[in-house]
Amino acid sequence: MKILLTGGAGYVGSACLRWLLHHGHDPIAYDNLVEGNVAAVPDASNRLIVGDIAESDCLAQVLREHRIEVVMHFAALASVPDSIADPESYYRANVLGTKSVLDAMRTAGVRKILFSSTAATYGFHSEMPLREDSPQLPETPYGTTKLAAEWLIKDYTRAYGLGYTLLRYFNASGADFDGEHGEDRRHESHLIPLIFQVALGRREKLLIFGGDYPTSDGTCVRDYVHTEDLAQAHQLAAESVEPGMGRTYNMGSGTGVTVLEVLRACEEAVGRPIPHEIVGRRSGDPGVLIASPEKIVRELGWSPRFSDIREIVLTAWKWHQRHPRGYRQDGT
Ligand code: UDP
Repeated sequence: MKILLTGGAGYVGSACLRWLLHHGHDPIAYDNLVEGNVAAVPDASNRLIVGDIAESDCLAQVLREHRIEVVMHFAALASVPDSIADPESYYRANVLGTKSVLDAMRTAGVRKILFSSTAATYGFHSEMPLREDSPQLPETPYGTTKLAAEWLIKDYTRAYGLGYTLLRYFNASGADFDGEHGEDRRHESHLIPLIFQVALGRREKLLIFGGDYPTSDGTCVRDYVHTEDLAQAHQLAAESVEPGMGRTYNMGSGTGVTVLEVLRACEEAVGRPIPHEIVGRRSGDPGVLIASPEKIVRELGWSPRFSDIREIVLTAWKWHQRHPRGYRQDGT
């Protein structure tokens, strides 16, 4: 299939693009390169179009010219703390940006969309694991903007005959097997890349946000899912989405891991202690987020390869060792 990936030069988008390429599809990335990396897209001169999702007319033209059958909409801002500090950017990118993508699809007559949603749309819950029908009560602008985008997609589907699959990611993590592609943003706020930046001497120490949660060691529990497994799910979803249909899946491993357990796994990978300090809680952080991935396993036959955090961080460490200053060698 001819598939356009908004944000296809970003961390998860580019992992999906490379996977689709290796599984018989014809993907192209549409990315403004604010956080994306040209080097993350193989054959970038043919497979990367530099553009912004806000430019709906340009995007519509690209969709038409390339005869796109499915849009995978990854382009978004995705940091919980940044969304609290700057909600305007998050509403613009995540809500208006999604509307712009949907409008371009209508103009160009593309009727199938996969959307990168998030566990942050669930908010704070005491019962785990979360199922797709667990109440969505987001606590941060990141979560509210992604939930608003889900509603936009559902309303457009009903009115304009689209078909959608919403994939609610838990914590995307890891790097590709050969260590050539991994997680690298200009402004990093995510746990695993920050731990390895400390290991590489780019930061003094890791700050662990909160040691007083009601969890086994007091630190937050998250469900880490490898990008290769996310990519397989996108392939399965793209191959089965049809106009008039709407489906939602949680994308997690089903296993919860504490921040300290992630740190220990990283220390094991690196082979030495990594300096850290437990500080106060970060605003907007739920204590525990764990997925039930049972629905996508049952309905689409998703078969994730990674369930052990130690294996996931090993792939990430391989990438960080090979690219100690990221895709941009100057480290900016
Ligand atoms: N975290 C941390 N220190 C950091 C960054 C993250 O302790 O410098 C914690 C954070 O509080 C959360 C977990 O690591 O419990 C995962 O955070 P991340 O930002 O990677 O993803 P999120 O779960 O917010 O989507």
